[in-house]
Amino acid sequence: MSTDRTELIEAARGARPLDIAIKNVALVNVFTCEIYPADIGIYGQRIAVVGPAGRYDLQAREGIDGAGKWACPGFVDTHLHIESTMVTPANYAAAVLPFGTTTSIIDPHEIANVLGMEGVRWMVEGSEGLPLRVYIAVSSCVPAVPGKESAGADFGPAQVAEMLTWPRVIAVAEVMDYMGVVAGSPKMVGIIQEGLKAGVLIQGHAPLLGGRELNAYLAAGVDNDHELRLGEEGLEKLRLGVLPLLKVSSFGNYARAIVPALKQAPFLDIALCTDDIEPADLLENGHMDRVVREMLWHGIEPARAIRWATLNGARHYRLRDHGAIAPGYLADIVLLDSLQEVRASEVFVGGQLVVAQGKLLTPIPQPPTSLPIANSVHLQPLVSDDFRLAAPIANGPIGLHLMVLEPTRLTTLAKVEADVTDSRIDLAALGEDICTLAVVPRHGQSRPPALAPLRGLHLRQGALASSIAHDSHNIIVAGHRAEDMLLAVQELERCGGGIVAVDGGKVLAKVELPVAGLMSLKPVTDLAVEMAALNRTVAALGIDHRARALSTSGLALTVIPEVRISDLLGLFDVQTQQAIPVFFE
Ligand code: FE
Ligand code: FE
Ligand code: FE
Repeated sequence: MSTDRTELIEAARGARPLDIAIKNVALVNVFTCEIYPADIGIYGQRIAVVGPAGRYDLQAREGIDGAGKWACPGFVDTHLHIESTMVTPANYAAAVLPFGTTTSIIDPHEIANVLGMEGVRWMVEGSEGLPLRVYIAVSSCVPAVPGKESAGADFGPAQVAEMLTWPRVIAVAEVMDYMGVVAGSPKMVGIIQEGLKAGVLIQGHAPLLGGRELNAYLAAGVDNDHELRLGEEGLEKLRLGVLPLLKVSSFGNYARAIVPALKQAPFLDIALCTDDIEPADLLENGHMDRVVREMLWHGIEPARAIRWATLNGARHYRLRDHGAIAPGYLADIVLLDSLQEVRASEVFVGGQLVVAQGKLLTPIPQPPTSLPIANSVHLQPLVSDDFRLAAPIANGPIGLHLMVLEPTRLTTLAKVEADVTDSRIDLAALGEDICTLAVVPRHGQSRPPALAPLRGLHLRQGALASSIAHDSHNIIVAGHRAEDMLLAVQELERCGGGIVAVDGGKVLAKVELPVAGLMSLKPVTDLAVEMAALNRTVAALGIDHRARALSTSGLALTVIPEVRISDLLGLFDVQTQQAIPVFFE
């Protein structure tokens, strides 16, 4: 139902009664970054009139007293993956609306890596007609790096071009294969060119990229970047015209290191995003409101931080009537009962009140979708020996390359010397913090697991397996005993995917994710309870990283520095894009 513009004009002029008038509210004006008492008149889905409190004597069918509250536009999340919250789009909407997020620009690249274009279609259909405005960025890197890992699908320019014609598609999603772009890979350049031809934005993803290589990446047509890691890097990107999409995700507070450097710029106008938020973290710490709080922590004025969380993202993606409270804009309005805490009490979407006193008013039904939910975990037969590192010599000393996981989720390479007995390595003899990391192909590939030693996870005993293993989502498993690792993987095969912790031959805790091994049909509230229990179990096994049960989920992502593990090549150097032999002379 669209709002008739002639009627809207009349309502704006005062010739027709408004539907809703919010009076005497402190308006957060995202154009001027002022805050002042105002009245807001809504007609149909849109805002008809805005003025200083009391000036126009607004006549409406329903009056709302805004005294003591602040009114700001609904938050616009500029880059995220619904799959990271492990729920369907409808359940995602139900979970984020109470935090004031009303527009989400999603990249369905997790499900795309498992189910291909059908997975993307499922996300498009499943997000149709929700009270959350969902726009789609077409996944550009499926798999993340061609030829270096294997996924359940492979997108080239032709697939991207087709999906760019689907409804609500407004961007090409994060171009993660930045090495490919810099090298002029025909596939990556072709994908970007399809986006440019369609006139949509091109999302970047280039952690730590700088210098001539950054210039080359941007010359390809990339518009923004949500992967800033260092202050200097952020400033360099800002100066070259990249719109930073600063994020606070469940995996880390990336804004902490960046904002102080960006603030050196005399003019700073950026946008915000969440990227990946897991269920327990969402309920505990919020959503885009948390990212705004982070900006306030850095001393950014509230109205400016809210501009970054609303109008800037909307304008960047050319969502012309989103992200502000002004005549003609969509009536997506958040009433905050605390500006400093950025706490939403009421949320309107298209003039409809969907959240009151912080609670969703009506359940959000799942829209019909054409894709049946089937088990997508397809493994080859496995035995416990598949999870034991086999040395190329029978006995004697040998050099071993290790992946080292840092608290930042970045990784480095280390070398140790080990003793081989009957072609086996006793990792425990090298220190209790070294375990085995394996990637188990799950898209039906006929290949045994790829193995590497891992330090820094702090797993003391047992095994942790997950079918969330960005972005190809093969199964990733870390553990000390091969039998536990095998059991954990088989448990995931049985339930169609998820995350499981095993110790001493027993399943200790599990979250089942039967939709592509990534998502559940349960609501966030249920999943948050399950994730919290799993996180406690994982912590008891020793893992002390912020992401807990998801601590290994990025270790197969071959586009995050420095070392990762790939199902095709094993231990992998992200910079050179070459395999690293586990054993050396
Ligand atoms: Fe990214
Ligand atoms: Fe992302
Ligand atoms: Fe991912």
